Amino acid sequence: MQGNDIIAAVATPPGRGGIGIVRVSGKNLQSVAQAVIGSVPSPRVAQLSHFLDENRDPIDQGIAIYYPSPHSYTGEDVLELQGHGGPAVINLLLSRCLQLGARLAEPGEFTLRAFLNNKLDLVQAESVADLIDASTSGAARCAIRSLQGAFSAKIHALVRAVIDLRMLVEATLDFPEEEIDYLESAHAARQLQIIREKLECVLIASRQGSLLQEGIIVVLVGQPNVGKSSLMNQLAGDDVAIVTEIPGTTRDTIQQLVQMESIPVHIIDTAGLRETADIVEKSGIARTHAAIKKADLALLLIDSRAGLTAADQQVLQSLPADLPLLTVYNKIDLSSESARLEEVSGRPRVYLSAKTGAGIELLRKKLLEMIGWQANVAGEGMFMARQRHLQALNQAKTHLDQAGPWVQSGMQLELLAEELRLAQRALSSITGEFTADDLLGEIFSRFCIGK
Ligand code: GDP
Ligand code: ZN
Repeated sequence: MQGNDIIAAVATPPGRGGIGIVRVSGKNLQSVAQAVIGSVPSPRVAQLSHFLDENRDPIDQGIAIYYPSPHSYTGEDVLELQGHGGPAVINLLLSRCLQLGARLAEPGEFTLRAFLNNKLDLVQAESVADLIDASTSGAARCAIRSLQGAFSAKIHALVRAVIDLRMLVEATLDFPEEEIDYLESAHAARQLQIIREKLECVLIASRQGSLLQEGIIVVLVGQPNVGKSSLMNQLAGDDVAIVTEIPGTTRDTIQQLVQMESIPVHIIDTAGLRETADIVEKSGIARTHAAIKKADLALLLIDSRAGLTAADQQVLQSLPADLPLLTVYNKIDLSSESARLEEVSGRPRVYLSAKTGAGIELLRKKLLEMIGWQANVAGEGMFMARQRHLQALNQAKTHLDQAGPWVQSGMQLELLAEELRLAQRALSSITGEFTADDLLGEIFSRFCIGK
């Protein structure tokens, strides 16, 4: 995976623009610079240059910046050619670099090299992609905090604390006759407890970060005409979906992305799925099931005038038992119900009007609470996190939990040492100390080309 060759890519998005940038990275780019711009520019100084083809005819003129190793994004020599942002001229420029021995960069390969050259750890590398992909401003702010090392610092602190405790345990193992006293006098149990509490805090913050980054999927289920499309519109805040008077004829948006407190919420109208597939009804039903399967939460809509009918019961029964469910009693402007939130036999329900908007705020609030959003944790302390990080944190937590009894009793110190070692390993996998090549491949292949 480690490359010694020269890579090149267009770093700006496809299409026309004011500026187009070709980026080149490799161990030694002096000869490339010499060939393309006729000189090797001073390090990190913007130099107005002619970009030359093999006959020394100009392809374009623009700015060249040369970042000699190690003071560059990748840690290698980097040459940045900023030309005019048209597809033809930028392609000529890229071809010229390829002609000089560079090859096309894979997606994320610049950042991969930065990681392999220790310019970034794995969390920071991932946050580069997450910053580019951020779909809300809140997610973007979290990603930049992770890129600047907020998350990595927390992980490093945990790893250091685990290492300290490991050293204590290993030292005790070398003097078996005094083992209990030694651990006790060093407050080993207390140290472990503190690590576990800190880990719990990081886990909570990471869950918030991953909600912001990855968002959630909410499915709308219910009988035709109960107001699913209207609710989607109300949540989206505009009139994208077409609402009709005739049951079952909505040709509305199937999926909408809305923001709730910066969390990207994908709302899927399952009826929409079924309705658009009336030619191939079976595939519509399959798609509905697929949508429900990947959902984090379901909103079951009911007409508050009729209450829960047998048909509604049937819809309810078709939902997986473990899918969090919020029942929405809609159309309260037509019934005598007031906008409110209730808990009936452990199940939350909200009374609202998708038409007037009464009660919508209650729905938003409850929905966010149900998916585990904690507004008080969010804010300045937030950082980006992914499922991969949550899994590793949970793994570390399991090992630290299992270490608990051993440190208490001062017995089976080999097992204690092993649990601590595994906890450290899980934590270090987050920042990328022990990371398999195939995981790296998967992470970086999701990047865009040129980054
Ligand atoms: P869907 O089939 O579940 O998607 O239902 P629609 O959103 O298409 O709504 C069906 C009809 O009910 C439309 O005429 C809507 O205007 C109406 N409707 C939806 N929600 C409300 C509501 O809260 N109050 C009133 N008065 N009408 C509503
Ligand atoms: Zn509809």
